[in-house]
Parts: sequence; C-alpha cells; structure tokens
Amino acid sequence: MADCCSFWNLTLSDVSRAQTGGALSLAELPFNPLRLVLLIAWVYLCLYSVQCVQFNPFVPDKYKGLANVLALVVGPVLLLGLFIAETAKKSRRSQESFFAVLRDQVEHAVTAVRTYRFKSRSDEGSALHLLDSAGRSMDEVYGHSGGKIADARILDLTERTVANALERRASDILIDPKDGDTYTVRLRVDGALTTVSELDAKTCRAVINSIKAVSGMDIGERRRPQDGGFMARKGHAVASFRVASAGALNGEKLSIRVLNKDAGVLTLAAIGLAAEQRALIEKALQKPSGMILICGPTGSGKTTTMYAMLNQIDRFTRNVITVEDPIEAVLPQASQIEINPKADITFAKTLRSVLRQDPDVICVGEIRDEETAEIALRASQTGHLVLATLHCDSNATALVRLLDLGVSRLLLSSGLSLLLSQRLLRRLCDRCKQPVVLSDKQIATFERKGIDHSHMFRAGRCKHCNQTGYLGRTAICDILMVDDQLKAQIAGSEAFLADMKTNDGKKSRSRLRRHGMSKVAEGVTSLEELKRVVG
Ligand SMILES: [Zn+2]
Repeated sequence: MADCCSFWNLTLSDVSRAQTGGALSLAELPFNPLRLVLLIAWVYLCLYSVQCVQFNPFVPDKYKGLANVLALVVGPVLLLGLFIAETAKKSRRSQESFFAVLRDQVEHAVTAVRTYRFKSRSDEGSALHLLDSAGRSMDEVYGHSGGKIADARILDLTERTVANALERRASDILIDPKDGDTYTVRLRVDGALTTVSELDAKTCRAVINSIKAVSGMDIGERRRPQDGGFMARKGHAVASFRVASAGALNGEKLSIRVLNKDAGVLTLAAIGLAAEQRALIEKALQKPSGMILICGPTGSGKTTTMYAMLNQIDRFTRNVITVEDPIEAVLPQASQIEINPKADITFAKTLRSVLRQDPDVICVGEIRDEETAEIALRASQTGHLVLATLHCDSNATALVRLLDLGVSRLLLSSGLSLLLSQRLLRRLCDRCKQPVVLSDKQIATFERKGIDHSHMFRAGRCKHCNQTGYLGRTAICDILMVDDQLKAQIAGSEAFLADMKTNDGKKSRSRLRRHGMSKVAEGVTSLEELKRVVG
C-alpha cells in the first residue's frame, strides 16, 4: 500500500515538476509567443482604433489629434467608450431603452460584417454600388481602386448613405452644412424630413465630392449651382438619382432626389382615388382632346398622379410626349424631354417643338407662365390630350390663376376638360396602429353625419415604421368636370369666377375632408393626419 502511495506521490510530483518546468522553460525563452501574439493584436487594434476615431462623428475635429494619441495607447477601450456614448445618445433620441438600442447596434454590426464579407467575396452581392450615368463604377470614376484606405472609407460611407435612404424608402437625401464644423444628412420619408446623421465637415465634404464625381459634376465648383445624376446597383436592381448642388452659408449643400422606378406601373387605384373619381378621370383620358389639370401645393403628389394617369393610356397606340423639370421617373414607351431654363430650353420653347412631332398626348410638367399656359390650352383644342400640373390650392384658384396669368376666358373654357386638386395623407403603419378611443361628443358627431367609426385607428410606434406610426402615403382629391354648363359660365361672366374664388375654396376643402374622412373610417389614416393636412 505504501509502495502504491509512493508510486502515486512520485508520479504526481513528477507531473507537477514537468508542468512547472514547462512554464519555466517558456519564461526562460527570450520571448513569450502568447504574449507576442497578444501584443501584435493589441497594436493592430490600436491602429484600427485610430482610423475609427478619425471618422467618428462624436469626436470634434479639433480633438482628433488628442483622440488619435489616446487611441494609440488605450485603443479598443476608447472605441468601447465611444460605442457606449453613441448607444446612449441614440437611446435618448429614440426614447427606447439602452439595451434595446444596444441589441439593434450589435445586430447592425453583425449584418455589416456579413455584408462586408459577402461584398469582398463577390462583386454581385447584396451590397450597393454607385455608377455614373455611363454605368462606370465609383472606383473607375474616381480612380481609387488601389487608393488609400481613407478614400475607400469615404466611398463606403457614401454607398451606405445611399443604401440607407433606399432602405427607408426616402424620396430625397439632403446634405447641408449645419455650422462650420458639422454637416447634417437628412432624409425625406413620406414627405417628412428626419436627420439621420451628423458628419464632421471634412468627411462630409469628401462624401459630397464623391457624389459630385459620380454624378458628372465639377468638384472644384462649390458655389455655382450644378446638377447631375447617378445610378445605384444592388444585385440586379437599379435605382436612379438626380443631384443638385449649390453654395450655402458655411459650405456647400447637396440635394439628391430618388427617381421613382415604379412610375410605369402606378395605377389610379394604388395612389388612393375612389372608384367614382377614377371613372371620371378615365372618361376624360379616353377623349382625344382637352386638358386635364392637376392642382396642389408642393409635395402633394401631382407628378405621381400624372404618371398614374399616363399609365391608363395605351402608350403603344398613342404617341405620348412629356416635358418635365426635372424628369422624376422613367416611363416606358413615352418620349420624355427635360427642360433646362439655364440653357434657355424652357417649357414654352420645348412645347412648340413637341407639337411638331405629331403627339397624341402631351404632358406639361408644370404651367408657370402665360406662354406655356396658352400653348398647352391651344394644343388641347386642336386634337391633343394635354395633362398638366399647376401649383395652387384648389380647382377654383387654378381657374383664377390661369386668368391672372393672362389666358383669355374663351380659351380657358374651351380647352379645359377636368380639374383635379389633391393632397397626400400618410398611411397608418399596419403593424402598430392602435384602435382610437373617441369622446362621446366625437361619436355623436360621426353618427349624426352617418360616418362609421368602428374601424378608426391612431398612430402607434414600431421599428417597422421607424417609430413614426406611418408608412407610405395615399392621395385625397377633389374633381371638377368642366361640362358645357361650366364652360358657358367661365366664358360668360367674370362675376361667376369671382364668386367661385370666394366660395369654392371652402367647398373644395370640405370635399377633400370628406374623401379623407372615408379613409379615416376605413382605418387607412388617422384623424390627426387628416387634420394636419386639410385642417
Ligand atoms: Zn409601425
């Protein structure tokens, strides 16, 4: 037994000696391989941190030097600190809990890493690539393919900004100088602007330059207004963008319009018109001549409605020519012409040349002056169907506005066939809308007016709609058919138009409200949204 114990003692002590001996022999080496690996990793992380700090919006330009030194020493610790500060700021801004934002951030980072790996493995991936109008990539345009890491980061940031805008269904990206040191990047989603990021001036100027380069604009010109365009490819999908730049206080501003690629398939039903309204429009569209005038303030969806109307027309059998400023969407089987007032290519001049091209249907992007109004109305009398938009409040003010421009009453009465004035309401997000609790007074009012109030909803908040409660928009409109009686009245007396101007404004508003109310009753939009838009 003792032998047995001594055997075990011997063996254990041998093992322990071997272990200590092993460790000792490692320490006795001139370097410890494990420590060396850790040291290299730490130095790499520190260098990486310096790069991250360089582009971090939380670090003001004047502290970048100090932050770089700190990053070299404490590296990842500084990054962790910045990450926590960013998460806390986002959580304050979105009013979500810190951990919910943290989880989002981590998920986002994982997706970014995956996308990056996918991107590096194959060019035809889920990543987005910017192309100029000739289809060349940013690398080719910029000549940066083998360039510095900093340049690659700017291109990456530019692509991410555009990808983010597409993901959020934005119609515009606006980049403006906030003050001398920072720029804001804002997106217009469903008509509302939201700030998505703030970049330091140096980084943002580089982003602006990369967009200007890919859009075929002069990078050196920072004050004079310029415009251009580019495309973005993601897999097989391609989106087109129009870019305008101009000098602003503290720098240069850039606005990017996302062109609507679905314009060729838009329908009147999809934009929100009721069946009886669609029937009236379809009747006017089938006529060989006459003018359909779409009225509304800026951002009321006039152009979208015009495209939806054009989709009702058989563009294979009817020659459709559009004159626009700028072209907002690509319409298959139509000739689209863009005007350029700076080069003296105006609506009026372009319309005159279009009339020589034997068109059946002419679209006038916007009537702004007497000459355009007159050419368009004359064309509508001489065997052309004319679709046009006018910036004004209601159908009645449209008539008065055209007379104010100098169009004769006779021309107006004989040319017009239908007027439509419209507004856009935001649609409630289906994933988070909440049943509305109505007061007794509201219920009594709805019952008196015969409005069904059992399916009314109010906005909620969820990730799907970016905490806004709304997703997409729908149109409400007021239609005025110009029949023989109205034609006679317009041509006949000035008093009629004066009366129409004073009285019809209110009536038009109440017709818009009625159309909007039917959408509230269907649970498509909320009472608050209707009140915000129509009052
Ligand atoms: Zn939602």
